[in-house]
Amino acid sequence: MLGGTHTAAHEVVIAGGGPVGLWLACELRLYGVDVTVLETRTEPDPHSRALAVHPRTLELFAARGLVEPFLAEGLRMPGGHFAALTRRMDFSRLDTPYPFMLLLPQVRTEQLIGAHAEAVGVRVLREHRVTGLAQHEDAVTVEADTPAGRRRLDAAYLIGCDGSRSTVRAAAGIGFPGRAATRWSWLADVTLDAPPAMQSASNEHGTVLLFPLPGGFHRVVGSDARTAQEKPEDLDVEELRTRVRRVMGTDLGMRDPRWISIVGNAARQAERYRHGRVLLAGDAAHSHFPAGGPGLNVGLADAGNLGWKLAQTLAGTAPDGLLDSYHAERHPVGQELLRSTSAQTGLMTSHTPENLALRGLLAELIGTVPEFSDALARRAAGIAVGYPPADASGAPDAHPLTGTRAPDLAVHGGGTLLSLLRRGRYVLLDLTTAPGAPSPLAPLVHDTTPGLDVRTGPPASGRPDWARVTAALVRPDGHLAWLSTDADPAGPARAAVTATLARR
Ligand SMILES: Cc1cc2nc3c(=O)[nH]c(=O)nc-3n(C[C@H](O)[C@H](O)[C@H](O)COP(=O)(O)OP(=O)(O)OC[C@H]3O[C@@H](n4cnc5c(N)ncnc54)[C@H](O)[C@@H]3O)c2cc1C
Repeated sequence: MLGGTHTAAHEVVIAGGGPVGLWLACELRLYGVDVTVLETRTEPDPHSRALAVHPRTLELFAARGLVEPFLAEGLRMPGGHFAALTRRMDFSRLDTPYPFMLLLPQVRTEQLIGAHAEAVGVRVLREHRVTGLAQHEDAVTVEADTPAGRRRLDAAYLIGCDGSRSTVRAAAGIGFPGRAATRWSWLADVTLDAPPAMQSASNEHGTVLLFPLPGGFHRVVGSDARTAQEKPEDLDVEELRTRVRRVMGTDLGMRDPRWISIVGNAARQAERYRHGRVLLAGDAAHSHFPAGGPGLNVGLADAGNLGWKLAQTLAGTAPDGLLDSYHAERHPVGQELLRSTSAQTGLMTSHTPENLALRGLLAELIGTVPEFSDALARRAAGIAVGYPPADASGAPDAHPLTGTRAPDLAVHGGGTLLSLLRRGRYVLLDLTTAPGAPSPLAPLVHDTTPGLDVRTGPPASGRPDWARVTAALVRPDGHLAWLSTDADPAGPARAAVTATLARR
């Protein structure tokens, strides 16, 4: 930390205009924050990369009124794969308005988020490569190389969304411990003249996994004994045909590759997500093998967790510790991400008889034990993420659902919780007052905070965990801050709202 007074001319500078940086910028604009994105590239990355948009990510988009364009373009898959096993998890049983995996190339996801960013007034400065930073007591100075030469910007906060090789992370002195790659897979976006009915195959020769893509082409992902041990160089479509034929007995009529790439199993996580006025999100905070396609989804959820906390901090309305809760809540999610992708990498890139037996056993369990499949599906879909109260001893009476993501509950007068979250505010749900009747919780809006939305809704029927819940306070990111089973929740709600939200 350097001394001296620095006035922050910018509220927030974001390094990196990939999907996570742009989404975080949109979240901040919801609260009127002045945000500038510095991006090295002149144009967005043209490669498809992430395909899978998970149910929880669709909920995040819906909570900002942006899900329709994604639904209009993406392909809906009724289930997701775990480690390319031959049996699929069934997403249709999930408690979400989007019980499917949406397949959409990342280039389109970025374009849709980018268009929204432009519409809400995000300032994106392209050809600006962040090269360094200096932290001061009241600002952070960001250095960038630009076509006009070296430029310095003073900001209240700098967020590193600059990918797995993050300059911000290194310049802030944040460690990125983990493992270097030891195994590799290849992937290709191609045309298939003979696409098979089955979507994955695995045997002693290797593993192949297929996804249909919008526009009639396919993503083919593969690993075999050779690529698993040794990084393949210069793969061309002829070589891929040979590799696929070895596993599947056919080359599927593979031709016209649009993109061929190699991915490794390096797994690293930032040791902390905040250092002073610098924070990290997305691949800058966690990097791993893209098994199950979680990286982009977890990065967008990082942004969803950080945006409102940072906005409240800048507005001076944040309770103590709110910004630090970003690391406390999201670092464990990143740890779980690395654990899950490591487990799947092990299953996908080893083809020993023992590993094939394990794959067969797990596939059988997914296909025959709904509880097992559903538990994996809830994790893969992103809806199992929860933020239990930080200090269980300090919240001994917390309802067991505290910190979990709220389902899309109905409210009286039409609409659902996701539509109520569009303003980016806390929502206090009263689940006992009859339709049309005034809620006894309504006066809390005037007494505690004008930023609170109070709505009544029917009891959450069909959800056993919710059977006795009479009121719930939902955070701007859709997670539950507090729940009551009190028959008359007005008193407890007042205490909970006052403790949770700062007065404005
Ligand atoms: C082959 C492949 C398949 C994948 N499949 C999936 C999937 O199905 N589902 C999924 O969720 N994820 C998937 N992922 C992961 C996903 O692509 C990443 O998690 C996602 O791109 C992370 O977004 P980000 O914004 O954090 O980082 P990035 O997309 O890496 O964006 C970082 C941005 O920062 C810019 N930048 C870098 N350095 C600087 C600097 N110094 N100054 C200014 N700007 C800078 C870059 O130009 C870039 O635009 C896949 C990845 C790969 C490679």
